[in-house]
Amino acid sequence: MPPEVDVAVIGAGIAGLATAYYLAREAPSCSIAMVDAGEPMAFTSAQSGNNYRNWWPQPLMVGFMDRSISLMEQIAQDTGNRIALTRRGYVLASRDADISMQHRQLVASLDGRTAKDIRIHDRIEGTGYLPPIRPDWDGAPDGFDFLTDPALIRRSFPSLADDIRSILHVRRAGDVSGQQLGQVMFEDLRARGVNLVRGKVRAIDQCRRFTLTLEAADGRSTLVAERLVNVAGPFAAEVAAMLGVSLPLANVLQQKVAFPDTARIIPRELPFTIDMDSQMIDWTEEERAILRADPEAARFAGMMPGAVHCRPEGGDAGNWVKLGWAYNIEPTAADWHPTLDPRFPEIVLRGAARLHPALKAYYGKLPRQTHHYGGWYTKTLDNWPLIGPMGPEGAFMVCGLSGHGTMGACAGGELVAAWMTGGNLPDWGQGFSLSRFNGQEPGRVAEEGLL
Ligand SMILES: Cc1cc2nc3c(=O)[nH]c(=O)nc-3n(C[C@H](O)[C@H](O)[C@H](O)COP(=O)(O)OP(=O)(O)OC[C@H]3O[C@@H](n4cnc5c(N)ncnc54)[C@H](O)[C@@H]3O)c2cc1C
Repeated sequence: MPPEVDVAVIGAGIAGLATAYYLAREAPSCSIAMVDAGEPMAFTSAQSGNNYRNWWPQPLMVGFMDRSISLMEQIAQDTGNRIALTRRGYVLASRDADISMQHRQLVASLDGRTAKDIRIHDRIEGTGYLPPIRPDWDGAPDGFDFLTDPALIRRSFPSLADDIRSILHVRRAGDVSGQQLGQVMFEDLRARGVNLVRGKVRAIDQCRRFTLTLEAADGRSTLVAERLVNVAGPFAAEVAAMLGVSLPLANVLQQKVAFPDTARIIPRELPFTIDMDSQMIDWTEEERAILRADPEAARFAGMMPGAVHCRPEGGDAGNWVKLGWAYNIEPTAADWHPTLDPRFPEIVLRGAARLHPALKAYYGKLPRQTHHYGGWYTKTLDNWPLIGPMGPEGAFMVCGLSGHGTMGACAGGELVAAWMTGGNLPDWGQGFSLSRFNGQEPGRVAEEGLL
């Protein structure tokens, strides 16, 4: 007889672990098996920048992320901060002094709780703005600070380019060790008797219950489950198709670099900083001409979108720095070994140097240890995740987590557990259902989500 469980969770990335973790809490008597083709946390979740924020264009996403951050804070508190949660915020910098549009968008996204949460600092003294000296999440400010006084900007963030005219400092934001978060959940699950079953799901048959055909190095096997959750990351659409379900998901490759900042250019207390403005990358005329002559590279010679980002990595005592720029919006078929663009490290370095001019010291000579890596943003049309029932009776999903799956995993896991156990859904809970795409054409991805 093949092994039988109440629930099979397909995928042991951060979202799969969080799903099993919250389901095990909501339904302690339920037997759960986690199924993965590889090691837990080894695929997309291993590539995450590990940043989090409650700054989103829509109230629904703000509600979702606020809940997820609260859950991460709870885990930090319960574990003596094993998950290395910090909270220096996100700094969104622009050369445009006019903040009216950004302010309007922020007010709309917060759905009413604006007066106390948004502060505007338009002079250097007496406005009470506190720069993020310490990394601790506990006791860090909440809400949003707009800085529009050039002298205050320079005093608070002296390493940034001196043409910056406005900053939005999102305070409930920072970084977390995604690997540690996954490890804490994995240990908890093991202690509760949840097993990891190794094998790639090749087929799923549904006849009252689900029969999963698994393929592993030692051959094929079968697992029977009353219910399943599809948390297969970039392969979620493939897993759904095994049950005849078409999910409106597309995969887009994104890349990062990390390197030791041997010249000590990026201050260790700098928050995650984002250059909001579009730009022409700082090439020489000769370099630009070479790029223009190459059809595959010509776009890097022209106007590039905003959102190139930078942050110190490895804590205040470390010296690594991470840079990213999610300018790619071309969907491609996901594979297990994404092909990176060797031009990316120099492109992102030059893009980031516009906001951090001292990075120019590394032009053409990034340190030998530079780590260039990447993975898939699995995106829906609106860049919101898909969480809830997947269609066939007993099948659920947490997928489409784009560039926010590390920060959203806890709330995603908790929400799908509520769907499965008949628990109360939060106000925003229905909003991530598949039904929102009824009648819409899949195949295009959201351009939003450049972070
Ligand atoms: C470059 C980059 C930077 C990012 N930065 C951030 C960030 O700063 N903050 C943030 O919140 N998010 C970030 N993200 C997004 C985040 O990493 C993802 O949203 C998240 O890791 C998705 O987790 P997951 O568990 O859904 O997917 P995965 O981690 O990919 O896990 C899916 C699992 O399913 C398994 N699987 C797939 N198919 C099968 C099958 N058929 N059978 C068995 N197992 C299967 C895989 O082996 C894998 O382990 C970033 C992503 C990238 C690529």
